Amino acid sequence: MPRIIISCPTTGADVPTGHRTQDFELAAVIEPRSFRCPVCHEVHSWRGDDARIEHGLTPAAATGAAPPH
Ligand SMILES: [Zn+2]
Repeated sequence: MPRIIISCPTTGADVPTGHRTQDFELAAVIEPRSFRCPVCHEVHSWRGDDARIEHGLTPAAATGAAPPH
């Protein structure tokens, strides 16, 4: 399953949150979630609005509803 990633606010790098799309739907992540960034090793908070699916897939594409580019 594709990983859920955010942009690190410190380095700007795409970093995995440790969650995958099977865990929950991004649109359902309204409460901020915290995780330790593997790039800068600080704790970041993120919500569904901040996150995206790796490889630039939209959630719909990740489930096979639309082909990736
Ligand atoms: Zn970071």
